[in-house]
Amino acid sequence: MTKKIDATKEQSRREIESVCTYCGVGCDITGVVENNKIIKMYAQKDGVVSEGNLCIKGKYGYDFVDSKDRIRKPRVRKTFLDKNPHIKDAFVDKLEPFDDEFLTCDLDTATSIATMKLDEIKKKYGGDSFCAIGGARTSCEGAYAFQKFCRETMDSPHVDNCARVCHSPSLKGMRATMGEGAATNPYNDIYETEFMVVIGSNTMEAHPIIANRIINVAKQHNNLAVIDVRETKLAKLAKHNCVIPFESNLLMLNMMAYVIIDEELYDRSFIDNRTKGFDAFKEKILNDPYANPEFFKKVEGYEYLAKMIPNIAREYAVKKSMIFWGLGITQNLDGSHAVMAITHLALMTGNVGKTGAGLMPLRGQNNVQGACDMGCLPYFAPDYTKPKVEGMMTPQLMDAMLDGRIKALIAMGEDITHIHPNINKIDKAMDMLEFCMVQDLFMVDVTKKADIIIGVKSAYEKTGVYVNAMRRLHLSQPLVESDLPDDWEVLTQMAGKLGDGENFNFKTSEDVWNEVREVAPVRFSGANYYRLERHRKRGMQWPIYNEDTPILHLLDFRTEDGLGKYVYKQYKLRGQVQEILDGTFYKDSHKGYYLTTGRTLAHYNNAAQTKQTDNLMHKYDEDLLLAPLEDKEKLGDKVILKSEYGESEALSVKFTKKVKSRTLFCTFHHAKSRINALFGDEADELIWTARFKSIKVDIIPIA
Ligand code: SF4
Repeated sequence: MTKKIDATKEQSRREIESVCTYCGVGCDITGVVENNKIIKMYAQKDGVVSEGNLCIKGKYGYDFVDSKDRIRKPRVRKTFLDKNPHIKDAFVDKLEPFDDEFLTCDLDTATSIATMKLDEIKKKYGGDSFCAIGGARTSCEGAYAFQKFCRETMDSPHVDNCARVCHSPSLKGMRATMGEGAATNPYNDIYETEFMVVIGSNTMEAHPIIANRIINVAKQHNNLAVIDVRETKLAKLAKHNCVIPFESNLLMLNMMAYVIIDEELYDRSFIDNRTKGFDAFKEKILNDPYANPEFFKKVEGYEYLAKMIPNIAREYAVKKSMIFWGLGITQNLDGSHAVMAITHLALMTGNVGKTGAGLMPLRGQNNVQGACDMGCLPYFAPDYTKPKVEGMMTPQLMDAMLDGRIKALIAMGEDITHIHPNINKIDKAMDMLEFCMVQDLFMVDVTKKADIIIGVKSAYEKTGVYVNAMRRLHLSQPLVESDLPDDWEVLTQMAGKLGDGENFNFKTSEDVWNEVREVAPVRFSGANYYRLERHRKRGMQWPIYNEDTPILHLLDFRTEDGLGKYVYKQYKLRGQVQEILDGTFYKDSHKGYYLTTGRTLAHYNNAAQTKQTDNLMHKYDEDLLLAPLEDKEKLGDKVILKSEYGESEALSVKFTKKVKSRTLFCTFHHAKSRINALFGDEADELIWTARFKSIKVDIIPIA
């Protein structure tokens, strides 16, 4: 609803409801706008997601909208034109000087140049020499048009989005056992639950407004278990503050299953009526050499887990419980299997399909759920249908660039050279491309590889649907006007120039959305703009027919036969646990520390938007390494980290008791730190999500 505050005195001052552009929590926001400028952002007291509160990003992080650094006109790289003189000759009259590297032009010229090159590449090498990576920062309309442009206009199956580096394992794991890869309950079910397990999630910094609910409930009921490789802020409130070794999620989750089975704490009636294969699973768990928590008695420094894990398992099983997880689960070699292990706990105890009991993968980007729903995945078309041809995932695309199979890329809101792993390799791979186009708000790191860069509308300047971490659709409306194009408009224009105009018959974002409702009817058929607008305040959770669906799996799981399944996987001994058992871990050396990475409250991913707000930038203007207090003398205040793949730049160190011996934590927001140069191609074994949560590094102190 758009309301004029004072129609006579302040004609231009308005308050407009929309949705926060940062994280997957998807808070409702109200922007106060004067003379087409946002002057304040707040949450209304009855905001269904925000509950009247925004974190500092949501509250202060809007200066990016009218930043002088926004890309206002398309840029075309001079060296690209030099390499393609026929294109230069064709458009020379329309190009104007910009700086040493780029010329500039209008949108029509930029899309004409881009399509001329893409057409040549398609004709010469075939459509599948093209790939498209992105879509999780923009609206569903942008994401839908993106995958459609890739699949239909370019005839390439290679579309992917940032879920590759975050929650693809949640989708994979949950679909394998329950048939649907999304959160089962609304956030407010936290108020209805009796016990909460947060595993692999720094919720207070990464999903702060969800954390508010968890904190309130934990303070009242002392019913929280926090499981992580370090002591996160949320752990202060935990009844069970469970710090586990690196890469041992699956180990401890299987142990919880063992305790529930061994002590017969499971819900036999739920198991019999709603699941299949339990007896075989039970047999495997009971015979798993690593599943008995007594195992931890042998793991020096973590012996307390032998008692703590059974205590968490017991409380989880006998109470109405919820499990929350983040990238601490998914960004591991066995991320998908760990997600399956989480779902096993719910299936065995009946902690799913009801109010106050369920599973909540805490999605990262504002619209990563929507981008996956729209089919921006190489193995899923819209609505999770099978695409005609399955494409390659991002790490495979990098290999294909290196060996010359992929020649062209459009990156839409995805800072691949900063946010993805093994950035030294990605740099080389992208240098092999014949053409790279970027659609973004700012000159982010990946633009250094781009031949054409098109500035697009931000979320606060356009209309569109966003899907948050609880499957809630929010129809966003513009807070300010902008003459920049929306992502889908750029793609529509390009599709037209490539002869696919009839297929891209979109004049408005609503046109795009109406096609989504036809193509993805299982989840979105009833979600027309009119209804989404009427219910903007409450939002609607998919699937949406006549009504929406706040809780999934009430009667049946979304598997073919409606039954939940168990997909057992034994933990593979490796890494820190193995080194402790072998007696090689606790050594007095600068070498062989285990590093994990994550976010801080003030910034969002590559910080492209947050660093435009002084307030946020100054809070964390460089990445920070947390190291064990006991190493203070040994390491000093500045260090470089080195792995077998690369080196970071010099990092400031903060020493703390919150990280265990010979382990480290670092944020990754600033490209100049080159944290992701430390990571290689090790990834989830099923779905290639990078193992960002564990890498062995040597520390080089800087005198
Ligand atoms: S929690 Fe996420 S969605 Fe909510 S205000 Fe903060 S950044 Fe925005």
